Amino acid sequence: MTKEKLKSKTLYIVATPIGNLNEVSKRTFDVLSEVDLIACEDTRVTNKLLKHLGIKKSLLVCHEHNEHATSERIIELLLDNYKIALVSDAGYPLISDPGNKLVSSVLENGIEIVVINGPSAILPALIGSGLVTNHFYFHGFLSSKQSDRLSELRKLYQKEEVLIFYEAPHRLHKTVQDLYEIFGDRKMTIARELTKMHEEYIRTSLEDCLNMEPGKYKGELVLVVDGYAPENVKVLNDKEILHYLNQNIKQGFSFKDAIKNVATIHNLPKNMVYRIYIKHKDLIN
Ligand code: SAM
Repeated sequence: MTKEKLKSKTLYIVATPIGNLNEVSKRTFDVLSEVDLIACEDTRVTNKLLKHLGIKKSLLVCHEHNEHATSERIIELLLDNYKIALVSDAGYPLISDPGNKLVSSVLENGIEIVVINGPSAILPALIGSGLVTNHFYFHGFLSSKQSDRLSELRKLYQKEEVLIFYEAPHRLHKTVQDLYEIFGDRKMTIARELTKMHEEYIRTSLEDCLNMEPGKYKGELVLVVDGYAPENVKVLNDKEILHYLNQNIKQGFSFKDAIKNVATIHNLPKNMVYRIYIKHKDLIN
């Protein structure tokens, strides 16, 4: 196979393994060997990969805290005819990883980019989830602040596509609690430690997952949650509607917004939720 001739004044955006270092294509190997410089998030992680591949290369650190300043340096070098690769610690740069600012500035400066395909946690999680894969929506990380996380989930509630979230293991239980609160019960798969020795797919439901011992699943994980299906929406009684109204009010929503949220999320007519609120408002604290 002939080696690809790299173009100068080009930024190569290269996906790298998400665990198993053997998931490097010949093209990825060639590009990493041939560029003049690699911009990476963490030199320790990238050096480990380069050592595995037997490549020696100068590295320039480009992470979320210095991306702006480093972008300027990278653009200077590219304009000086360098060939540069951008990698992150795992998977594709720019997918829940740094690189967006750099790539926009590179394009604004009329410099070419080439994307070198490789692993990412999104697709194996989706494909191994057992859920229907025709349409899907990737969200990445939800906010770590609960009130923001709940508002994000409210906006996603009626999406019919399968939803994909990245999550840290120590936040798994809280996130599943919030998913359950907003979505009700749905099928969910936890795809963990993909491509690594302890890879596993836990095909479960939000409710069953809530009953699992918190902290049970460690390591890197992706949550794949079934989309909205009107036939699966649970019919709520007055007591349950009041419970959700109370929850919204405790989270700081006005009565008007609480009624709107509960009506939207549970697919109920707003005036019906309003009537229940008027009837039982003494019970709302
Ligand atoms: N750029 C990466 C990509 O293309 O998938 C994502 C990087 S993001 C900072 C890290 C998150 O991706 C982890 O918290 C986890 O949700 C997911 N992830 C990365 N590697 C994984 C793996 N081997 N197994 C499961 N999830 C993984």
